[in-house]
Amino acid sequence: GKQVFKRTKPHLNVGTIGHVDHGKTTLTSAITKVLSGKKQAKFRKYEDIDNAPEEKSRGITINTYHLEYETDLRHYGHIDCPGHADYIKNMITGAAQMDGAILVVAATDGAMPQTREHLLLAKQVGMPLENIVVFLNKADEIPDQETLELVEMEIRELLTEYGFPGDKVEVIAGSALCAVEGKVPELGEQKVAKLLNTLDTKFIIPNRDLNTEPMMPAEHVYSIQGRGTVATGKMERGTFTRNDKVQVVGYGKDIDSVISGLETFHKTVEKAEPGDQLGILLRGLGPKDLRRGMVILPQGHKHVCTDHAKAQLYVLKPEEGGSKRPIANFFNEHVYSLTWDTGCLVTLSGKDFLMPGDAAEVQLQLAAPMFIEPQQRFTLRMEGKTIGTGVFTHLLP
Ligand code: GDP
Ligand code: MG
Repeated sequence: GKQVFKRTKPHLNVGTIGHVDHGKTTLTSAITKVLSGKKQAKFRKYEDIDNAPEEKSRGITINTYHLEYETDLRHYGHIDCPGHADYIKNMITGAAQMDGAILVVAATDGAMPQTREHLLLAKQVGMPLENIVVFLNKADEIPDQETLELVEMEIRELLTEYGFPGDKVEVIAGSALCAVEGKVPELGEQKVAKLLNTLDTKFIIPNRDLNTEPMMPAEHVYSIQGRGTVATGKMERGTFTRNDKVQVVGYGKDIDSVISGLETFHKTVEKAEPGDQLGILLRGLGPKDLRRGMVILPQGHKHVCTDHAKAQLYVLKPEEGGSKRPIANFFNEHVYSLTWDTGCLVTLSGKDFLMPGDAAEVQLQLAAPMFIEPQQRFTLRMEGKTIGTGVFTHLLP
């Protein structure tokens, strides 16, 4: 029979970030315009993109516009948010993950506060640091080359300050508006083409999870008479096979064991892969050794459980299902992450309260050492209500 044509272009998720009014939405529209000429995108008008529909992620409403386009080399998912708060919520909740970013900076303004905030968060949530390109926009309003060079220098320094390779990042001066309006091609269309070429050639495709260290959080634990203890859950990443030596960690414990059986939907599996819903039979463990929220890792892993971490937190508004009350400094809450949950103390930096709708850096002191790693998401709950959602950024001793 006939063979089916397969799309083999690598896929990457990108998005525009940057200060309000610097031209993110105009540039998004410009990209689709330039690519629509080659039938590699559907042209999206500015108004359509800016009227992004509301989405819910972890109870939080976020306005995000998703579009897709392709180049000769790759297929892209692209997001653009209408407001600064939407970017912050998107990055903290991980709603639409970005593997790379187009940082839009208006050459007329230079870097502004939201430019900095987006860079900080992009780094903290684990976007690969080499996957960034700067579009120095509104170059049509800058008559002299010198000003452009000064702004470029400033941005490179800022990138370096936030841990990005500021000397190597491509900075492209151009005009998104010219590209949309089909004017001055050397500032418009040609610079958008150069931007796309940078995405194609400089952005790396991040490692998908098959070959990384395996990890499975235990959802439920039960005993089978005469066989041992089973932990069920979803394989987060990596692979496990029978006879693998493992360690079960969490709640201040780490216990060695061996996988003596692997099942999915009551059938034996040879090799558990990311996304599999599993039952793992653990040799020599009793039901008291194991509990929901512990995590199964290979022996020899480098992970250290901690009860103290820094995080970025977003406090839900009442209309998002959150509380009307603010979160106070030194407040006791309940934190949920992966399959574990425990009491925690929230410490704010330089503030007494976080109001609903606020986002800020916080420190969490947990009741017991748990499996936490940077970029892991969590929620804060109180009286059965999600009041905040966040992402761990640093483990503290
Ligand atoms: P966003 O808030 O970052 O999405 O910015 P917008 O795309 O909404 O653009 C803000 C304003 O800047 C709009 O009035 C645009 O028409 C204008 N703008 C965008 N790109 C350019 C450009 O290249 N040159 C000039 N002169 N204006 C631009
Ligand atoms: Mg916009």
